[in-house]
Amino acid sequence: MYGRYGSQYGLDSLTKFILILSILFNILIITNFIPNKFSTINYVLIILLYHRLFSKNIPKRYAENQKFEALTKDFTRPFRRFYKNISDREYKYFKCPNCNQELRAPRRKGKIMINCNKCKHKFQVRT
Ligand SMILES: [Zn+2]
Repeated sequence: MYGRYGSQYGLDSLTKFILILSILFNILIITNFIPNKFSTINYVLIILLYHRLFSKNIPKRYAENQKFEALTKDFTRPFRRFYKNISDREYKYFKCPNCNQELRAPRRKGKIMINCNKCKHKFQVRT
């Protein structure tokens, strides 16, 4: 594994995405939800997965993942905020209703007024 992408970066976002997609496809085929002929797609996904993990062209694989993360950023943001909100005991995370800027405030302060640091919009949040 030395000098391979997978040994340096492990399961990055793009690799994880391909892995989840492959598992989903497997379930859909096993449960006959989609015809068996689509299993070819699953093989392609598995080949892609191994290709990424064992690739020696680390900068290229890294760049692909960066591109993937940039493309999926807007879609994954609410999930990442949700995860932060359930895992962080110190801060509460939310977005500005005016400009969608990601903000955080210390917990257990009751209802507080927030001044968005990007657009200066004022609004109330319950911490
Ligand atoms: Zn704002």
